[in-house]
Amino acid sequence: MCIKMGKKHEIIRTEKAITPLDREIINTVCHKCNFYAKDQEYWEKEYECGAYKLIRQMLENKQITVDEIEKIFKRIDLNPERGLK
Ligand code: SF4
Repeated sequence: MCIKMGKKHEIIRTEKAITPLDREIINTVCHKCNFYAKDQEYWEKEYECGAYKLIRQMLENKQITVDEIEKIFKRIDLNPERGLK
């Protein structure tokens, strides 16, 4: 059981169930996303948003590389303090 923001989360997925490509996307993209909740990949039934799916498809199609994604992130304002409106 995982507890986040007062909510109890049931662990439904182990690291073994996460493919190497998905782990790379989670580490490269999700960990920089303001919507990421710690360890969500282990307890959220559907943790992949549309952008996630698009990026995975682009990586699978070799339309972009992880290095290119990291370079793009360096040019983006990832202000974690920005509040949602
Ligand atoms: S799945 Fe999408 S919204 Fe969720 S943390 Fe990853 S990039 Fe952000």
